[in-house]
Amino acid sequence: MARKFNFSAGPAMLPTAVIERAQQEMLEWHGSGMSVMEMSHRGKEYMSIAAKAEKDLREVMSIPDNYKVLFLQGGASSQFAMVPLNLLGDKDSADYLNTGMWSKKASAEAKRFCTVNIAADTSDNGFTTVPTQAELNLNPDAAYVHYTPNETIGGVEFDYIPETGDVPLVADMSSTILSRPIDVSRFALIYAGAQKNIGPAGLTIVIIRDDLLGNASAQTPAMFNYETHANADSMYNTPATYSWYMAGLVFEWIRDQGGLEAMGEINKRKADKLYAVIDNSDFYGSPVARNGRSWMNIPFTLADADLDAAFLAGAAERGLITLKGHRSVGGMRASIYNAMPEEGVDALVAWMQEFEKNQK
Ligand SMILES: *Cc1c(COP(=O)(O)O)cnc(C)c1O
Repeated sequence: MARKFNFSAGPAMLPTAVIERAQQEMLEWHGSGMSVMEMSHRGKEYMSIAAKAEKDLREVMSIPDNYKVLFLQGGASSQFAMVPLNLLGDKDSADYLNTGMWSKKASAEAKRFCTVNIAADTSDNGFTTVPTQAELNLNPDAAYVHYTPNETIGGVEFDYIPETGDVPLVADMSSTILSRPIDVSRFALIYAGAQKNIGPAGLTIVIIRDDLLGNASAQTPAMFNYETHANADSMYNTPATYSWYMAGLVFEWIRDQGGLEAMGEINKRKADKLYAVIDNSDFYGSPVARNGRSWMNIPFTLADADLDAAFLAGAAERGLITLKGHRSVGGMRASIYNAMPEEGVDALVAWMQEFEKNQK
């Protein structure tokens, strides 16, 4: 049995060292006589696991003390509703930057709750660019500005953090969190589904500045109110205990790799290697503008799309799997989150070069 290089966009690869550690601790965690999955979330063993995971995430991301970290469920998709429910306050409009499928979904959901001002929209070019700061049509009276720093499907990533003055900035970081250092203090709220760069599915992380708590609209369900979870250390109801534990192992692993500085360097190198093969040949192409290219999700096309199936079949023979592009973009997509080893990218690069040579 061999683990393959899995380029899935999510759920995605986890570090082998993390899975091995979980395997060692599977039957019985640290003398507790039970698996983490069987523990009461209110018992002292589990409470220590949960608290350590939060402490490690705070340390790895340098999260300032005036931010709460919440370990929720419902996926990033639930945040599309929780953000307006909690942040509108007495305002009735919010700004959204539409740069791909996920930000479009977020803005569509917000329309249930408020007037949505689309402050930027790159659908005209098929979501292949990032709007510049000067192009953002921001409303100074907006309750908040929402954007998606990395669009997982299009492979489009902002190369800057939008400047929004006093208006709180909200980011769906599902597919870019932990990929490099980020200045948390620039954001009012960051959220991310776990299954890309954090851990197993079932967990959603929310990092929220504490002055934004307590403003949810009156009809907000308790489970959709950030304050509920902040006041209960994310234990208002049973949390996704095992996913939270696994995320904690991933945070420790990131620290062992040298933290986010080191992750950023490795991730940049991995992405540069792939873009170099794409750019140094007219056999491969990238649909994305150069300044908007993602480090995490790299779509690429073959000049002759009739060769896609042969490319994918040969890749699979070499243990390089889940490379088929999203149906809305076509071609291929290589998702290379933190857990994708550099050797996986090297193996993909070698196959791309071999495949191109074979066709000539
Ligand atoms: C995967 C993803 C989502 C959806 O996440 P769920 O956890 O499935 O709800 C939302 N936004 C982005 C940017 C994503 O990559």
